[in-house]
Amino acid sequence: MSRFWSPIVETLVPYTPGEQPGRAKFIKLNTNENPYGPSPHAVAAVQEAAAAGLQLYPDPVARELRRAIAARVNLSPEHVFAGNGSDEILAHAFNAFFRERPPVLFADVTYSFYRTYCKLYQVQHREVPLADDFRCDPANYRGESGGVVIANPNAPTGLALSLADIETVLLQNPDVVVLVDEAYVDFGAESAVALVPRYENLLVVQTFSKSRSLAGLRVGFAVAHPDLIEGLVRVKDSFNSYPLGRPALAGALAAWEDEAWFEETRTRIMADRERTARVLETMGFRVLPSTANFLFISHPEAAAEQVLANLRARGILVRHFRQERIRNWLRITIGTADECDALVTALRGILADLK
Ligand SMILES: *Cc1c(COP(=O)(O)O)cnc(C)c1O
Repeated sequence: MSRFWSPIVETLVPYTPGEQPGRAKFIKLNTNENPYGPSPHAVAAVQEAAAAGLQLYPDPVARELRRAIAARVNLSPEHVFAGNGSDEILAHAFNAFFRERPPVLFADVTYSFYRTYCKLYQVQHREVPLADDFRCDPANYRGESGGVVIANPNAPTGLALSLADIETVLLQNPDVVVLVDEAYVDFGAESAVALVPRYENLLVVQTFSKSRSLAGLRVGFAVAHPDLIEGLVRVKDSFNSYPLGRPALAGALAAWEDEAWFEETRTRIMADRERTARVLETMGFRVLPSTANFLFISHPEAAAEQVLANLRARGILVRHFRQERIRNWLRITIGTADECDALVTALRGILADLK
């Protein structure tokens, strides 16, 4: 605390990101990074953009990138917003659509950044409990609210709602923004982008960080009716006119256009996810069916925090959340096939030591 802080700063509850170790060599399965790295074309484009033009400001409206994204989903660039990571877009959305409104609804177990944005922007919210098996019932998202936020697939559970369920939520909430955070959608869920032409209250947010392995570049985008996009642009232009640098714009465009790399790497991750899930089940783990690039697992005889510490001692980082409902669960990113095997071996050793 400092007497120099604005009063609201004292009330903030900042998001705690997963550890990024310094030099130590860990197998990093704690922040849902994609082990295969970005398309080589994206790396080349970043290098080229860095080699010439850095003295100039970038395009403030990311015209080329938005045009490429829009073309792929058969919409106009006016339906697309680009931001410095999807986290920035989520923040702008909370600012643009949810302030000075009745409470916004989101799940009790979901991406914890939503609570952080509520604090920052003084947005009221109500947490909607997931079922005992962590399923989300769309019927629970009705009645007066200031908006709805759904991570689909959800994090950290990995469970996804069907497009029909998302549509149910939209139909139940025609007068507020329904934000669907699709950070992991490319690993096996259905995107709500297809519904954008029919629902003027739908805001879909995606990222280049996970399925396109560009977490270090910081690029995300949103797809929605142009009126919602304009709301985001007004907030952006009151905050930072140039959220994406030239290397980021060039790299994201090249990554978007390399569909072969995208398909191959995400297919590998999904296959290793399923293979690893089946093995963990034979070891007594409860494994939620995942449509993301991570597994959410729990073992009846091994406390999650103990497993977390023992994995760390064996050089493997995974993620644990200090929230009562999920205190005995771990979220584990799907790494390369070798990293998945190393994880299984380590967990076998840890379980054997407990006996
Ligand atoms: C990773 C993640 C994001 C943010 O990704 P950016 O790197 O900021 O684009 C947003 N939502 C969820 C649920 C995530 O897991």
